[in-house]
Amino acid sequence: MTTASTGNRILGLACRSCGKLYPLQANNFCTEDFGPLEVSYDYEVIAKQLRKEDLQKRPWNMWRYRELLPLDGEPTVGLHVGGTPLVHARRLGAALGVKQLYVKNDAVNFPTLSFKDRVVAVALSKAKELGFTTVGCASTGNLANSVAANAASAGLETFILVPHDLEKAKLLGTSVYGSNLVKVKGTYDQVNRLCTQIAFKYGWGLVNINLRPFYAEGSKSMGYEIAEQLDWKLPKHVVCPMAGGSLIGKISKAFKELTSLGWVNNTPTKFYGAQASGCAPITTAVKQGKDSHKPVKTPNTIAKSLAIGDPADGYFAAKLITNSGGWAEDATDEEIIEGMQLLSQTEGIFAETAGGVTVAVARKLIEQKRLPVDEPIVICITGNGLKTQDVLEQMLESVPLIGPTLNEFDQVVTGPRETVRKPSTATV
Ligand SMILES: [Zn+2]
Repeated sequence: MTTASTGNRILGLACRSCGKLYPLQANNFCTEDFGPLEVSYDYEVIAKQLRKEDLQKRPWNMWRYRELLPLDGEPTVGLHVGGTPLVHARRLGAALGVKQLYVKNDAVNFPTLSFKDRVVAVALSKAKELGFTTVGCASTGNLANSVAANAASAGLETFILVPHDLEKAKLLGTSVYGSNLVKVKGTYDQVNRLCTQIAFKYGWGLVNINLRPFYAEGSKSMGYEIAEQLDWKLPKHVVCPMAGGSLIGKISKAFKELTSLGWVNNTPTKFYGAQASGCAPITTAVKQGKDSHKPVKTPNTIAKSLAIGDPADGYFAAKLITNSGGWAEDATDEEIIEGMQLLSQTEGIFAETAGGVTVAVARKLIEQKRLPVDEPIVICITGNGLKTQDVLEQMLESVPLIGPTLNEFDQVVTGPRETVRKPSTATV
């Protein structure tokens, strides 16, 4: 299916274990050793096709880097995805004692308010190139929302499978687009295994199963944007949430690609992984100095979007973190809520529970002196708090209720603060 338009810039799908090359088809594992497949590029060809200066003329979205993404032709799905803000988080930085703290805010990604729009834009554009008319996914929520929305706009039929206990907002934010949403009585890992069987039996394009090599490449765009927004400098430290463990590796791949194109100086970045304590297979492996993770059978955390007990890229994520000189930590449910509140109350950014995990872990790593306070740090926010409001409901208990009189309002302003505004568990 490789056409002249790729100009041979894509070599194929390469096995991450043995290196065997496969054609660009819907296939996610090596038939020799079941190693995962990854898109492999010829950067000398890309360097001839794309110069850094060319970007100035292009719209500020993920497709400005399209030569580094695995499509044969022009993108056809998710044309407005990406281009999210990199916020210089001065108030959060001050609260944490860090001079240069940046928040990459994919909580405002278009159209479904999470970084998953990046991976889905690539996966569904590729699905159309490969001729699929029915697509789907196994999801912990954000991916479900994104596949449903982007497929609707592309006129593709969808089957989306999720664990039955997801947040209501994520279920509704999938159904509304007219997708065939199916709740499964089981964990994400069980849903994922079922989807593998479905992809084989029905021949559909499941974005994070048989289209996974293409899908995962979309995450690189977050790394390109971070580098460009820092004026083509790589950050010294990146803190990233981990579910399947793919995003952190793809940001690293993006930085390496920009280095090999000569667009940034070869300055090493340390990577730090964040998970919830109730499902922390990768952070546990890093802390114990182990190569591979031990799967968590029954995840138990309010950060449902990160609740993947047996992460597909766990091995690679743990290796990357350790080799980069970074570290990994996890956050309890209470710390997750504190992290959400801290980010909201310092920067006005309402992130979902996964964002609370990332902020809480960044705080922990700073306290442990693993993250130096005098070097630039980027933390990656991947989803929007409007989707996981349930966990904050108790905050509403301290909202004062008054009659429509100035007198009663005066009492709110001048009255004893404790009676009108109980300090939350997470006052900054
Ligand atoms: Zn192989």
